[in-house]
Amino acid sequence: MSNPFENAMKQLDLASNIMNNNEKLKNLRTPKNILEADLTVTMDDGSTKTFKAYRVQHNNSCGPFKGGIRFHQNVTLDEVKALAFWMTIKTSTVGIPMGGGKGGVVVDPKTVSQAELEKLSRAYIQAFYQHLGSQLDVPAPDVNTNSQIMDWMLDEYEKLIGHADPGMITGKSIAKGGSLGRDTATADGGFFILEDFIKTKNISPKETTVIIQGFGNAGANMAVLLHQAGFKIIGVADSKTAIIDPDHQGFDAVVIQKIKKDHGRLDVCVNDEAGQCDINHHHLEPHMILEQPCDILILAALENQITKDNVKNIKAKIILELANGPITPEADRELADRGIVVIPDVLANAGGVTVSYFEWLQNTKNEKWSAAQVREKLKPIMIDAFNRVTQTAKQYNIPLRTAAFISALQQVCLVPKE
Ligand code: NAD
Repeated sequence: MSNPFENAMKQLDLASNIMNNNEKLKNLRTPKNILEADLTVTMDDGSTKTFKAYRVQHNNSCGPFKGGIRFHQNVTLDEVKALAFWMTIKTSTVGIPMGGGKGGVVVDPKTVSQAELEKLSRAYIQAFYQHLGSQLDVPAPDVNTNSQIMDWMLDEYEKLIGHADPGMITGKSIAKGGSLGRDTATADGGFFILEDFIKTKNISPKETTVIIQGFGNAGANMAVLLHQAGFKIIGVADSKTAIIDPDHQGFDAVVIQKIKKDHGRLDVCVNDEAGQCDINHHHLEPHMILEQPCDILILAALENQITKDNVKNIKAKIILELANGPITPEADRELADRGIVVIPDVLANAGGVTVSYFEWLQNTKNEKWSAAQVREKLKPIMIDAFNRVTQTAKQYNIPLRTAAFISALQQVCLVPKE
């Protein structure tokens, strides 16, 4: 498995070589703080179990450290360091006054009960609370974490510090100070960019086939938005199942989202009470979804999905990264050589952190914005960032990822000019 932090540094090298600025970018190669803890939790059967936990605070030159907390059995320190670094680049790509950070716990959430999950979430805050806060470091949800977990974490934090500080964490439930529109924000941001991009290419959604890898917060919401806009979703996959539409008519993403919500899986022929097998589909091994022919491939699962081993089999014409780091640098190079456009993570999935910033703003100003206001404020931020990145790409004749990095590194707060 290729090392995500090394991959991230290779991406930085490409940008810094063009900017001729290696010396000044040195400080981006090392996170400001790496926090580690062993979280001990009393399990339901009375035994105790220890879980490794990380918080990496990469950079706060532009504002408080900002980034989600991931619960996954394969979390490593290098993964969290890469994700924290990408957050620094991402917040600067969209130009919001936040820095980069990320957290992770090595746990398979499917193997713990709700009560154990709550204890683990609270233990995370007990370990790191002195380093967190609305003006210091502001976590959020990521893979396998959600608004319930953010609510537990806020509650634990406020108990420990003895006063309210709702802006200390984002992605909370609405009742606890969350923002309307945060749940769909990552997909919304990617959708705005994709919509803008295909307009410039004169592509009609009705004639455009889409495959989506990952059917959680980012992937499922993107599927629904694209379906509603008329795109043909011909394949989707989660970690267990991939389904493909053999006739290329396009699935009804709203129905698929409901199946996933009701049954926790995409296999529409398990639990067929609702006659869901009427949906014409074939099954595939999940990783095979990437290699199916389509116009647009949306990556919305995890890092290292397109690598030197499978890149030659990729048939999509456009790839949009809602996941962080799903394409390795070697595969990136080959895709660029083949003229496949990659809309990179630090731009394409920045809607999530942007609406997290909106949530933080609403908490600090004691305001409540409507879902429509949130979307209305998000769109110009995404489109402006996309325009900056495409202009940079044209100026240097480089792929969008390196252009996004250069655009981020041109933010004066991140890399001050002499
Ligand atoms: P999630 O936990 O809600 O969903 C993850 C999905 O990926 C699940 O459907 C899971 O089954 C699937 N998956 C995992 N491994 C897979 C595999 N090998 N093949 C196919 N599917 C697989 O997580 P999420 O919040 O949707 O995050 C997905 C990605 O998007 C992550 O890289 C995350 O860092 C990134 N991201 C999320 C947000 C956000 O706001 N949620 C913001 C920015 C970036």
